[in-house]
Amino acid sequence: MEEKVEKGATALVPLGCTGEHIHEDIRTAVKDAFGAEVTVIGRENCRWTGFDVERRQYAASDLIECLSPLRAAFERVLGVASADLSYPGVNHVFGLTDPESRISVISLFRFRAKGAPPGKIAQRAIKTAIHELGHSYGLRHCKDHRCVMFFSFNLADTDYKNREFCKSCMKEISSILKADARKRKEV
Ligand SMILES: [Zn+2]
Ligand SMILES: [Zn+2]
Repeated sequence: MEEKVEKGATALVPLGCTGEHIHEDIRTAVKDAFGAEVTVIGRENCRWTGFDVERRQYAASDLIECLSPLRAAFERVLGVASADLSYPGVNHVFGLTDPESRISVISLFRFRAKGAPPGKIAQRAIKTAIHELGHSYGLRHCKDHRCVMFFSFNLADTDYKNREFCKSCMKEISSILKADARKRKEV
C-alpha cells in the first residue's frame, strides 16, 4: 500500500485495460461533482476473485468485497473494470455500489461496444462513476431521465442523461456534502 494515502479521498482502482485518460476524466468529473480528491492506485493492492470463465464476467459483489481493505485508507473506493460485471438475476450491470461500505464498481465493457468513439466511452464512464458514487453518498434513483441519478436500463438511457444532478438531487447532495464537511471539522 502506498504511504501518501489520505482519509477523505476516493481511491480509483483500475482493473484490466482501462486507459489513463479515462482515469483522468473520472478524476476531474468526481472532483467537480463532489469536491472529492481521487487517487489512482494499483490493482496489486487487492486480490481479485470471482471471474466467471463461462460468462466472461466478474461478479460485481465479489469485486466490491476485494476492494474493501482499501477503506482503511480511503473514504470511498471506485473500481473501474474493463471486463463485464455480473449480478444475480440480471445479464449484467453497468455499475454497483454498496452504500454501507461506500465501495463502487463500474465496467467499461459495454461502453466500448460497437466501436464507440473514445469521447462517448468517457462520457458513459463519467456518468456511471458519478451515479455510483452518488449512491455511496446516500442518493437514490431519480425519475428525471436527464438526471445522472436516473437508473440506466440500457446505453441509450446513459447517453440521454446528463452527468449533472437534477435540481432536487443537487439540493440533496449539497446538504449531504455540507453535513460531511461539518462532521470532518468536528473530528
Ligand atoms: Zn443506481
Ligand atoms: Zn435527480
